[in-house]
Amino acid sequence: MNLSALVGNGPLKHQLSQRQEGRGLSHAYILSGPAGSGRHTLALTLAAAMMCTGAGEDRPCGHCVPCRKVLGGVHPDVSVLSGPGEGKSITVDQIRSLRADAYIRPNEGERKVYLLEGADEMNAAAQNAMLKLLEDGPAYAAFLLLAENGTGLLETVRSRCEGLTLNPVTPAQAEEWLLRRYPQMDQQAVRQAAADCQGILGRAVAELEGDDSTRRQRMELAGALAQAVEQGDELALFQTGMALEKLPKEELPRLMEQLVTELTGRMARGRGDKRRLLKGVETARLLSQGLALNLNPGQAAGWLCAQMFMDG
Ligand SMILES: [Zn+2]
Repeated sequence: MNLSALVGNGPLKHQLSQRQEGRGLSHAYILSGPAGSGRHTLALTLAAAMMCTGAGEDRPCGHCVPCRKVLGGVHPDVSVLSGPGEGKSITVDQIRSLRADAYIRPNEGERKVYLLEGADEMNAAAQNAMLKLLEDGPAYAAFLLLAENGTGLLETVRSRCEGLTLNPVTPAQAEEWLLRRYPQMDQQAVRQAAADCQGILGRAVAELEGDDSTRRQRMELAGALAQAVEQGDELALFQTGMALEKLPKEELPRLMEQLVTELTGRMARGRGDKRRLLKGVETARLLSQGLALNLNPGQAAGWLCAQMFMDG
């Protein structure tokens, strides 16, 4: 199996590498480990391996259409189930609906994969309904039960699943992976996050990227800035730049990193004037360094506009 998306976890990789391609995989797994330890990464890798139509032995290939759909979260035969609201666990009614759905044959692939969030928090009725499905569900259906702690599951459920335990990565593994993921970010901040995360990479990512709403805001701002640079629209750049003044200071280096990603993506797709896009990348990199030296957001906005259009 191709488990390159998962950091560290040597014993787990060894356990799974014994499996030959998709067909050799079990139909039920318990993926246990603390939040942020890579359970979703592993679940998507397993689901992609089951759906992959790539020619090679090393699945998932990551390139075929089914792989890209699974990894992008849009494959119609891969479903994610979570409780009906914040802090609520999956109910027995949801499991009954899941059961009805499981008996409808797959849309595109040869299998159907169900990923269950917080499986260890389900009550006994829900777990027993799940048990029946594990015992006599259709052969093409696969179940990935995510748990903080596998011991929260009934023994009868556990006995029908293969257990996969995610462990914290080493400090060196955390640092290496984070530095590769955030090349534009202040290296000291990245090293600090690696040191503070106790081997749980999701914690370091949350620390470095902020929560979902700030992440969305950052993506939107970076997209608007990149668009203005691509189109050489000085006014739009100035107006979007003004919005930077309202951002908290620690958010700016992340925004600049996102802007570099946006601009290099546009270059790769051959959009806009290459020279101007390159200048944008250069400016965003300079700014992320300047910001580390305490340039304030207002100055950053002004500088971005000036640099971009200084010599036409
Ligand atoms: Zn594939």
